[in-house]
Amino acid sequence: MRGAIRAVSVAAVVTRAVQAQAQRGQIDKSDGSPVTIADFAAQAVLIRELSRVDPGLRVAGEESSGYLREPVHEGELRGALDAARRVWPGVSQEEFLATIDRGATRLEGEDCPESFWTIDPIDGTKGFIRGHQYSICVALIQRGRPVVAALGCPNLSEDFGRAFTDPDPRGVILAATGDGPTVGLSCAEPTAEAGPSGPLTRVERVDRMERGGPSGRALVFCESFEGSHSDQHATGRVIRLMEAQGRAIGPPARIDSQCKYAIVARGQADVFLRRSRDPARRDWIWDHAPGWLVAARAGVTVTDSYGREVDFARGRLLEANQGMLAAAGALHGEVLAELRKLT
Ligand code: AMP
Ligand code: MG
Repeated sequence: MRGAIRAVSVAAVVTRAVQAQAQRGQIDKSDGSPVTIADFAAQAVLIRELSRVDPGLRVAGEESSGYLREPVHEGELRGALDAARRVWPGVSQEEFLATIDRGATRLEGEDCPESFWTIDPIDGTKGFIRGHQYSICVALIQRGRPVVAALGCPNLSEDFGRAFTDPDPRGVILAATGDGPTVGLSCAEPTAEAGPSGPLTRVERVDRMERGGPSGRALVFCESFEGSHSDQHATGRVIRLMEAQGRAIGPPARIDSQCKYAIVARGQADVFLRRSRDPARRDWIWDHAPGWLVAARAGVTVTDSYGREVDFARGRLLEANQGMLAAAGALHGEVLAELRKLT
């Protein structure tokens, strides 16, 4: 777990530097999917750092080098390489591109290794470009189950009172293994070889079941900032159905990336709901595996939005699942019951 935490904190040095630039390294790809030079640089850096602790590692990552290898994109290649060199001084262009492509491991059928890392160097790229929240996500999957995860949230404050749209200078990292509690630490710059300094503190979900009752505070839902990524209308309908039964519920927190798992894991929000707008769409494993483990080990129940167990053994996509629902205790069943009433 220490190696995964270190990898995330080193990658955060790169993403922070790029996010501080006026253009935030944005690349307009013709297929409309947003990406930045930081996505490429952070993928190379994550794989390099993880390979220090796991030299023979196999990786399924979001990015590949094809775009950067096209001669017309030489400027972007230079920008990505310069960003990576902040923490990987002197890396050659060829080693940089080859390292990005170590993330191309196929996971389908018999090709799937028993143990592999899945990484999303910048989850929530649209949030990253807006200057809002994003996350750096790493998980080790063994025999279909996430067993180590580090979820870097470089702009997420330890202070629950800080607006999500107001980036924190330090940020937080949440991490977990399959058999221990979720821990958290500051996402401050790592020291030379030792990785991030500072203690790991146990992340404990304050049980907020009393919220939304006669004496409690309002429940908090969280969902995607981008209305095109999940059905915000459905979230609103579930909230109204629960309010009709006496629950007090505040306006949903809209936040990019797997930071949503982090805020539910630490009890800042009570429910993370992602209902697909398109029933045919399947999410990528790297968009959920790290968040799944840090939330689950903090005591949160995570299923898809139909209440099905999340199955990470179906390849690069979560073929057996649609949407996602994370909530603690009886609240999970309560939200699921209302979701089932929606057509
Ligand atoms: P979020 O941060 O909740 O907005 O989710 C970000 C993730 O949504 C990205 O990593 C994408 O893989 C995924 N995504 C992109 N486009 C869509 C879409 N049209 N529907 C659902 N998810 C999407
Ligand atoms: Mg993503």
